[in-house]
Amino acid sequence: MRSLGLARSGERLSVLCLGAHSDDIEIGAGGTIISLIASGVRLDVHWSILSAAGQRASEARASAEAFLQGAERYSIELGEFEDSYFPDQSRAIKDWLIGVRSRVSPDLVLTHARNDAHQDHREINQLTWNLFRDHLVLEYEIPKWDGDLGQPNIYVPLTAKAMDRKISLLHEHFGTQRSKDWFDRATFEGLSRLRGVECRAPEFFAEAFFMRKARLL
Ligand SMILES: [Zn+2]
Repeated sequence: MRSLGLARSGERLSVLCLGAHSDDIEIGAGGTIISLIASGVRLDVHWSILSAAGQRASEARASAEAFLQGAERYSIELGEFEDSYFPDQSRAIKDWLIGVRSRVSPDLVLTHARNDAHQDHREINQLTWNLFRDHLVLEYEIPKWDGDLGQPNIYVPLTAKAMDRKISLLHEHFGTQRSKDWFDRATFEGLSRLRGVECRAPEFFAEAFFMRKARLL
């Protein structure tokens, strides 16, 4: 199957990762980040988390640094918006994201999915499309109680090694999540295995994204 490559080994790719909470980017796109770095792409990442205060801030920073190990360059920006109430903070979040937009010029924006059932995630999705109009945007998925997973249309196959590293880093860095019944290896492997089936991933696992629009030439 011919694939649409974002960048080849040795090429530079700038990526803006947007996440509402401290583990979102890792869960939705952590394997993709690991794989791009492993494939030799010179990754320049701006990693923005909107709600990461207190213990969450140190977790978020340590995790991002681990996932971004080997990137050519990266910056991490943490906001302190109140978890679970993003729609009520929309104006301030929009201003914050306008600030991000003024500092970066990404080739690719990774953000939450439009049909995500979490109100904070949806808010970030809407503001992404509102503000990043000259960019390729891919929306990542987050498994959750609500059962909101859809039918993604873009896949990044993961090597078994990348899959294992993603899960190991998630467990290493997000100790506060361990009490949640869904935060385990089986959840992450199960979803990635299904996405791997859908794209015939050579090593069985994949992350999947929603691509709303793209220019081919
Ligand atoms: Zn979240």
